Amino acid sequence: MNEAAAPAAGDLAGRVALVTGGRQGIGAGIARRLAHAGAVVVIGDLRAPDASDSVGRWVGLDVTDPDSVGDAMASIEEVEGRLDIVVNNAGIMFEQDFETHPLESWSAMVAVNLTGPFLVSRAATPLLKRRGGSIVNIGSIEGFSANPNHVAYGATKGGVHGMTNALAVDLGPYGIRCNAVAPGWIDTELNAAYVDAHPDRDEVVRQLARLHPVGHIGAPEDIGDVVVWLASDRSGFVTGQVITVDGGRLSRPPLPPIMG
Ligand code: NDP
Repeated sequence: MNEAAAPAAGDLAGRVALVTGGRQGIGAGIARRLAHAGAVVVIGDLRAPDASDSVGRWVGLDVTDPDSVGDAMASIEEVEGRLDIVVNNAGIMFEQDFETHPLESWSAMVAVNLTGPFLVSRAATPLLKRRGGSIVNIGSIEGFSANPNHVAYGATKGGVHGMTNALAVDLGPYGIRCNAVAPGWIDTELNAAYVDAHPDRDEVVRQLARLHPVGHIGAPEDIGDVVVWLASDRSGFVTGQVITVDGGRLSRPPLPPIMG
């Protein structure tokens, strides 16, 4: 992706956006695209981004902790004075055998990936209600289909998609829309570990590319571009939707490798 391909600057001028987990990866790509479109961006994350990379003010935020979430909203109200866009992006992923899955790791995944968007959206609603706004949840294609040993991840992402519908219904009367983006394989640190761990990294990259009708995996900005549209008035009649951004991967059911 390059700047020439970015959405027109200015669509979000004057708007304030919170991006959870915006320090790196998809969240950082979303933050860059929102800033390019004119939004004032607040990055809510456990750790501060590198000052050189950052396109917004960092506020310390643990999405699993109601007090931390409340403090972040208070800071936004005090410093920016308004909130128009919330991107629930913070998330974690790990593999775990189902039969030996500890309750603790299940609960940790639920806390970040599902309770986090609930707590952040709930705390943001009084601010969003003032002028109307847009909540964008980052779900996953794993809310529709699952990789092995991903019971907690798939359950939380399916839950995020369900919450998106429910918030669209409950918050629509206040002028607040809620949609989700379901990314496919995006080049971030979360995924790089899987690729780098393989002895033949280059072959993994080639095979991954072949899974995608567009011929390559995605970049964080691919998700950011869709988030900008969902955050802007150009999508004013769109709510309760889960938009898959996966290079067509889910559109092609697998054939036996010998036929593919
Ligand atoms: P990364 O791990 O690269 O980034 C996630 C960010 O969220 C990190 O900065 C992390 O901080 C932060 N974070 C983790 N826990 C919390 C918390 N409790 N409170 C606040 N921030 C937190 O992930 P990606 O960018 O790859 O993923 C972003 C989102 O996109 C996730 O929801 C993920 O499930 C989803 N997704 C990703 C896909 C991909 O291919 N990458 C595909 C489909 C969906 P720290 O590093 O300090 O832990």
